[in-house]
Amino acid sequence: MKLSAEFAKLPSMLQALTVPLANRSADSVFGARGCLFTFHRAAPSQVWQGLPNRAFYLDLAFLDHLLSYLKRNGWDIVTVEEAIRRSQQGADRRYVNFSVDDCYRDTFEHVVPLFRSHAAPVTLFVTTGIPDGTLPLWAAGLEDVLVQRDRVVLADGAIDVATDKQKRTTFHVIAGSWDGPQAGDRYARFCSLNGVDQSAMHRKHAISWDMLSQLSRDPLVEIGAHTVSHARISSLPEAEALVELAGSRERLTSELGLPIRHFAFPYGRSGDCGPRDFDLARRAGFFSAATTRKGLLRRGHDVFSLPRNTINGDRCSLAAMEAHLTGLSGVAARILGRV
Ligand SMILES: [Zn+2]
Repeated sequence: MKLSAEFAKLPSMLQALTVPLANRSADSVFGARGCLFTFHRAAPSQVWQGLPNRAFYLDLAFLDHLLSYLKRNGWDIVTVEEAIRRSQQGADRRYVNFSVDDCYRDTFEHVVPLFRSHAAPVTLFVTTGIPDGTLPLWAAGLEDVLVQRDRVVLADGAIDVATDKQKRTTFHVIAGSWDGPQAGDRYARFCSLNGVDQSAMHRKHAISWDMLSQLSRDPLVEIGAHTVSHARISSLPEAEALVELAGSRERLTSELGLPIRHFAFPYGRSGDCGPRDFDLARRAGFFSAATTRKGLLRRGHDVFSLPRNTINGDRCSLAAMEAHLTGLSGVAARILGRV
């Protein structure tokens, strides 16, 4: 981008920067702000410590601490439905939403029970290929094998993975080399080489329809869709993208008997979903769609490109959360072009 274009953006960037620094007056001018958070998995502290891919998980003790902190500091924890209502009608109290993307067994066993203990709602964006067993959970399976074993077999020989450091490094090297359309096949080969029962491993990590059905009856749980196969929507032709969008909504509706109003784009950054895809979400029958573009929800924001702030399990501190809650992380992302 030309320097002159960067300068042209400066006034709006500076305004965005000063807004969070003067929260109270900004809230009174623009209405109370909302902050949408998202994460994937959560684990008890002792388990979390030893996970090779722990950035993908929140330490449950931290999440517990964060929920208490938010309540103490005057944040209402709300559903996406309520966050949108406030963003459209204005609100005099600041609000925050938590959504869990993909949905694994720990959503049922750990995450929802924790939110329940705080009497706080939580939103689940379900990838329907997980309970249907059609989406290979290769990252979860690879990680599980690395945690359980001291040595694993790869196509070109066996390697030692006895220490936490070896497990972490091996996970990232293998996951990096598998990522993409071939990941399922490579994972199947890995399971075969290491004597892993792939379907038992799937059941160990997946959320099931029975679990989702139980959760759907909890008034604190809001259920939305997150595609059928966790596809990057922007990369698909329109007809295939619509199948991913509408297919996940219809599958959830037929299994759970509920209207499914909200959608979250897999990956969710600007290269993963754009204006065509926001329009497709509307055409697929959704009432809103969420991205992972950082920032705050303010009055009048487009409901088909809702900002969400991803919580990285490796960078969990209240200071990091405040950067999201004040909007500073969103401003920094836009200045750095990381959107
Ligand atoms: Zn996802």
